[in-house]
Amino acid sequence: MKLISMPGRLLLPTSIIATAACTPGPMPLANLAPVPHAYVIEIDASRSTEAKVTLAFATAPSSIYPARDGDGGGVVDVRCEDGREALQKDGRWRVPTGCRRLEWTIAVDDLDATGIDADLPSAAYSRRHGFLVLPERDGLLRAGNDGGSATVRLINMDGSIVAREYAFPSINQPPFYAVVGTQPSQNYESNGFALRIFGNALPYMWMDEIHQHVLSTWSRWSRDLVSGPAPSKIDWAWVRPVEDAEPGYSASAGAEAIISQIVLRDGDPDAEAKARVVIATSAAHEGFHLITGAAGQAWPAWVNESLANHFAITAAREFLASEDHRWLNAYYVDPEVRAPLLESQALYSAGDGGQAQVFYTWGARFWREIEKVLTNQPNGSGRLAALIRETNNFADIDLNDADALADLLDQHSDDRASPIVQCFLRGLSCPTVIAE
Ligand SMILES: [Zn+2]
Repeated sequence: MKLISMPGRLLLPTSIIATAACTPGPMPLANLAPVPHAYVIEIDASRSTEAKVTLAFATAPSSIYPARDGDGGGVVDVRCEDGREALQKDGRWRVPTGCRRLEWTIAVDDLDATGIDADLPSAAYSRRHGFLVLPERDGLLRAGNDGGSATVRLINMDGSIVAREYAFPSINQPPFYAVVGTQPSQNYESNGFALRIFGNALPYMWMDEIHQHVLSTWSRWSRDLVSGPAPSKIDWAWVRPVEDAEPGYSASAGAEAIISQIVLRDGDPDAEAKARVVIATSAAHEGFHLITGAAGQAWPAWVNESLANHFAITAAREFLASEDHRWLNAYYVDPEVRAPLLESQALYSAGDGGQAQVFYTWGARFWREIEKVLTNQPNGSGRLAALIRETNNFADIDLNDADALADLLDQHSDDRASPIVQCFLRGLSCPTVIAE
């Protein structure tokens, strides 16, 4: 294999940290009666520029909409199974009366020829590596907020079939991302938790160590952080970047898959260490979303992103050699974007996605400070993990209410949490050690 040159610099965490899974958008519709979705998605390797979708409903909906964050751009020829056409109007498709099974076609990109953006992936097939990437936002339609099931079938050139069954996520879980392939380039398993790698990861010894590290971390988190359902299988696809992609690492994740890429630049003696740090930390961050998101928790973004980075940084610090810690600090710890977390949450909810930087940095620092004062019994992932598990993902707390969170944390910290909560969430009376 040809030796790969490494990047001159990596982008700062703005683009290091995934966006697609981090910002589930609202459905553009009022609350509908439950309409469970059952998808069958099929792609034939001999005609790999399109995939066929069949969607069955428990009850016939009147209209169907692009899935989360999608615009339905790649969706073609939506029909009832009896041939009646579903007409598109005002961003929705009107379902023919009484129709309980719809079919349509998805346009699929050629991953080997054009590449895709791992931050915002489109449906794409790699003939060279034999796998399909399919995020719900590009190609799927949904009739409401409920989950269901999905089967993705890949028919190979020789006629053999690879199929993968998924629970289709509801609106409060990470979005549906499918990665289905003939042959993973690597397979890992730990405590009943499987990781499959598709495509070409970087050809360094430490990539294998990172894969094993994140798998054992995820396995531990699914034991220590959630009391509800958690995925048992994660597919991680390395995809070719688009032609003019900026140097750096980018990734995004859905319910059971991570999609990532790295764009290399010559000339930086620290490039390999930087790549190692960013890949290890970012993968752990994405896995955190997958594992905690499957339980259907309804955390606001400030909690979801700050906890993901806090736990990812903690795990990376244990895994990485001490000489790599300077890059962990440089990318994830030192660049603090300080603002009261609840104010940032309000701006974020109003559409300012840039506020996520506050959650990644100042939010992660908040949980670091909280970990220092907690007095509850820790589990294998610490005291905060034990508290999250015991409180069923903070289910009974309004996490946008600083006083409510302070009350809960005070009960497990000899009343030492309140000043930290008021400082970080509301910008009030910060203890001097934090304000410095
Ligand atoms: Zn995230």
